[in-house]
Amino acid sequence: MTMTAMIPGALCADHPVQSDDVADFIAASSFERPTLVVSRAKVAAQYDALARGLGRARIHYAVKANPAPEIIRTLVQKGARFDAASRGEIELCLSQGARGRDISFGNTVKRPSDIAFAHDAGVTLFAVDSEAEIDKIRDHAPGAEVYIRVIVENSAADWPLSRKFGCAHGAVPALMEHARAEGVQVAGLSFHVGSQTRLAEYWGPVLDQVATLWHAARAAGHDLRVLNLGGGFPASYESAVEGAESYAAKVMAQVDERFGEVPYVMAEPGRGLVAEAGHIVAEVLLVSRKSADDLHRWVYLDIGMFSGLAETMGEAIRYRIDTPGRGGEMGACILAGPSCDSADILYEQRPVMLPLDLRAGDRVVIRHCGAYTSSYSSVGFNGFPPLDVVVL
Ligand SMILES: *Cc1c(COP(=O)(O)O)cnc(C)c1O
Repeated sequence: MTMTAMIPGALCADHPVQSDDVADFIAASSFERPTLVVSRAKVAAQYDALARGLGRARIHYAVKANPAPEIIRTLVQKGARFDAASRGEIELCLSQGARGRDISFGNTVKRPSDIAFAHDAGVTLFAVDSEAEIDKIRDHAPGAEVYIRVIVENSAADWPLSRKFGCAHGAVPALMEHARAEGVQVAGLSFHVGSQTRLAEYWGPVLDQVATLWHAARAAGHDLRVLNLGGGFPASYESAVEGAESYAAKVMAQVDERFGEVPYVMAEPGRGLVAEAGHIVAEVLLVSRKSADDLHRWVYLDIGMFSGLAETMGEAIRYRIDTPGRGGEMGACILAGPSCDSADILYEQRPVMLPLDLRAGDRVVIRHCGAYTSSYSSVGFNGFPPLDVVVL
C-alpha cells in the first residue's frame, strides 16, 4: 500500500531544504512495517542543485531509481524529462503528465510491441547497441532517432554496470553505417560511467573514450547531436560525497573540454536525484550470538535483501544506520534480513558498528534510501510484503 501524507507549509522547492522533513515525520510517527519515507521537497531541491551544476545538459530522470508516482509528478512540474526502460515506466510518466517527446526509451533490449507503444505515445529517442535493435526501431518506430550505447571501461564505481549494455568501441562505425543503410537516424552516443561514481574526477578517462568515438563518427560524416551522459551521480551513504551542484559542474567542465559544441547533452541521474530524499524506518527483530564466545552479535532486521535493501549485495552500498534512543559504546555486528534465504545477509565481510544496548523491538533508521529500494523490493518472498512507501 502506498500512503501519501502532506506536510503543511511545504518548503519552497527553489531553495535547499533546511529542515529534515523526513526525519521529523519519522520521529513523530509509528510504523507497523518497514517503510520508506521520501520527501518531494527534497527531490525538488536536489533537482535544482543538479540542474544548476549540469547547466546546458537536460535531466532525464532514470525512473527505475524510484517510480513513486508523486515523485514523477513533482519532477514533471520541475520541467524534468525522463529515461524509461519499459512500457510500464513510459505509461507511468505519461500518467503523471510527462509528454512522450520528453521521454527517452533507454533500454537497449526492447519488446517490439513496447517500441510501437512508445512511438504512438510520441517517444522519439531510443537506445540501441546492436543491429537487430536498430532493425526493430526501423520496423516499429519509423522516423525515430537512436543513440548508440557504448561500453566504457571503468572500475571506479561502487555499483558498476559491467558489460551487459553497450557495444564494443570497434562496433560503433559498423552500427552507424547499418543504421544509415536502414534509414534510421543516429542522433548520438550514450554510456553509463557506473552507478555511485563517488568522485567527479573518475569521469575523465571514461569521457576520453567516448570523445574518441564521438569525433571519429563526426569525421566519418555522421551528424551527431545527442550526447547522453547516463547516470552515476553519487549519494552520501556511509561516507559523504561532494554536493550535487559542484559534482555535476565538474562533470560538465570535463564534457566541455572534450566535446565542445553539442546541440543536446542529456544526463540521466537516478540515485543522485532521489537517494538522499528518503530514509527507511525498520525494526530490530533479534540480537543474538551464535555461541558464548562469538566475536560478533548478529542483528536481524525486519527488512533485508529481498524487501528493499538489494543494493547491499556484495556489500556494495554501505548505508548509514541510525539507532534513535540508543547510544554509548558500540560493537561489531553482522546485519541480516528476516527471510529464510541465507543470501539475506546485508553486511558480514565488513561488520557494522551498532550500540551494545541495541535490543529487539528497537527502531533503526537507514539513511538515504530513496533510490533502488522500493523498486527492488520483492512482492512477497516468505510472505513479507513489499516495502511500504510514504511520500511527503
Ligand atoms: C539505471 C540507469 C541510470 C541511472 O543510474 P544512476 O547511477 O542511478 O544515476 C541512467 N541511465 C540508464 C540507461 C540506466 O540504466
